[in-house]
Amino acid sequence: MIVILKQNSSENQVGEFIRRMETLGLKTHLSRGENTTIIGLVGDTSMLEPEKLKSEEIVSDVKRVSEPYKKANRKFHTDDTIIDVRGRKIGGGYFQIIAGPCSVEDEEQMSAVSKSVKASGAGLLRGGAFKPRTSPYSFQGLENEGLELLLSAGRKEGLPVVTEIMDTADIGLFGDVDIIQVGARNMQNFRLLKILGQTDKPVLLKRGLSNTLEELLMSAEYIMAGGNEKVILCERGIRTFEPSTRNTLDISAVPMLKKMTHLPVIVDPSHACGISSLVLPLSKAAVAAGADGLMIEVHNNPPKALSDGAQSLTPQAFDALTNTIRPYIGLEGKRF
Ligand code: PEP
Ligand code: MN
Repeated sequence: MIVILKQNSSENQVGEFIRRMETLGLKTHLSRGENTTIIGLVGDTSMLEPEKLKSEEIVSDVKRVSEPYKKANRKFHTDDTIIDVRGRKIGGGYFQIIAGPCSVEDEEQMSAVSKSVKASGAGLLRGGAFKPRTSPYSFQGLENEGLELLLSAGRKEGLPVVTEIMDTADIGLFGDVDIIQVGARNMQNFRLLKILGQTDKPVLLKRGLSNTLEELLMSAEYIMAGGNEKVILCERGIRTFEPSTRNTLDISAVPMLKKMTHLPVIVDPSHACGISSLVLPLSKAAVAAGADGLMIEVHNNPPKALSDGAQSLTPQAFDALTNTIRPYIGLEGKRF
């Protein structure tokens, strides 16, 4: 980290600042130029807040030269992290498809969808029981009953399940869930992230609608700093000026995140575009860009879906999708 000092700072003030930084375990390098004096801070500066330093009387500006995330950082962990969910591996060349309805609706739906997605090659079953809806008048999810229906469909088909948590108070209900999803709208719900850091469940962390990749990694860092290093990142489209799709799939996020972090990165093309006919081309793009998996919404009767019907694939369309990408993800989910 580089601290640029104000021109009128006195020797005493500079000496006192340097001593304070050194008591934090940092090394300091003072450099006095003709017009500017700067101090280089070397060591673990992740606990320093640039904004706080900027409020010091002698500090004019602060620049970070290293990333503020440590545990998620590829620099300190060069190998890809592989997350094993009851035998389904994700990351490090292992590719998984997570599929299922947007919302869990009833037993018949869950039974039809889980059977068909399994037959088409999905490795994990998704389904929302607690739904983050823009309108309070829209279907909010079946909550506890929905969790039960999802878990029972997953058990019947031998598929691990993924479902979203919206509130810290519900954590006790997620004991049998295999992967806990943090939705885009909760990516920066820091209390929720901290609670998940205390569990040993894999967490699927979706990128917020308007969040940078660094912010996504800082949210992953919250979970990891609590002791839970099993975080899967998900690019699900971001908000841009383009209204013809629900969001804009930031495909460059995939290879960029792979450079920045060792954590697995998956893509959710369904929420990215909001239109079922675009899900296949975006899935191909995700595979080509190096994603470790896909999360896709599938419904046995999309026009009747209680949420996100327009972006949901029929079981037949999902089967066509898995057949198209299978040659590129290899057998048993291991990429070539
Ligand atoms: C979902 O996966 O059901 C969902 C609500 O997604 P997102 O948080 O990405 O909008
Ligand atoms: Mn949805």
